Amino acid sequence: MWPMRLLLLGGTREARLLTEHLAPRMDVTVILSLAGVVRRAPRFGVSTRIGGFGGVAGLADYLEHEAIDLVIDATHPFAAGISANAAAACGQTGVRLWRLMRGPWRERADEHWITARDADDAAARLPMLGERVFLSVGARSLAPFESVPCKHWLVRSIDAPEPPPAFTHWRLVTARGPFDHAAEVALLREHAIDVLVTKNSGGSAMRAKLDAARELGVTVLMIARPGVPATNAAFDTVEALLAALAERGRDHVGAG
Ligand code: NAP
Repeated sequence: MWPMRLLLLGGTREARLLTEHLAPRMDVTVILSLAGVVRRAPRFGVSTRIGGFGGVAGLADYLEHEAIDLVIDATHPFAAGISANAAAACGQTGVRLWRLMRGPWRERADEHWITARDADDAAARLPMLGERVFLSVGARSLAPFESVPCKHWLVRSIDAPEPPPAFTHWRLVTARGPFDHAAEVALLREHAIDVLVTKNSGGSAMRAKLDAARELGVTVLMIARPGVPATNAAFDTVEALLAALAERGRDHVGAG
């Protein structure tokens, strides 16, 4: 069948870039899927659906009903639930699954991060590390830190956390990245931050906070990525995925 029908699981900058490339193309029909967690999502030039599918069974039904040829999982590296569901639903239905995930940040020679297995592990380590914490983990990942005693928290997220976290002393900055180096240095200075807690989201667009922390001698507590399920192919750049898609498009037309 032509055009090829793609389900793009999004919520990331990479997914947005992919939609910009694919929207004008006649050989693919893209349905972008968003979880609906951000209140004012940017507009995309492709058909967009918002909200969960209802677990593995709901996603498997959707793939069959919409005659999807290929699922591209371009969700955030820490969105482990939807990635596991996509792998299971594609396995059940025989739909191919590709993964687009930016590479992790790597520690440079002059950096000394403390690595935590997950958010709970990060929260357990925090009491020894400092008092004024820049918690840059996203509005929906604050709960594990609520039990850490006596800290001054700076929280930055796209939307205000709802409900607000149970922190005694905290300040909120709502902003959408990327952020530049000078602004990150200024933020860390203004709030006299001594510890930065971040997920290892990766990508050059958001690395400025790590560079600012290095410059100011701020301790970095890095939360490691969760494992990823197996997929038919995996790419770490939009360009690499587009090249593979061009190849697959030729096969698809040949088979159609
Ligand atoms: P998650 O824990 O992996 O997923 C929870 C549930 O949300 C899924 O089971 C699914 O519901 C629904 N869902 C998630 N992504 C979806 C999508 N693209 N389209 C439709 N339904 C989706 O996800 P999360 O960590 O809460 O992240 C939610 C979204 O925010 C993701 O799309 C991710 O790309 C983006 N995001 C996450 C982070 C992060 O740090 N986790 C950071 C930046 C952006 P059903 O089971 O009902 O299908």
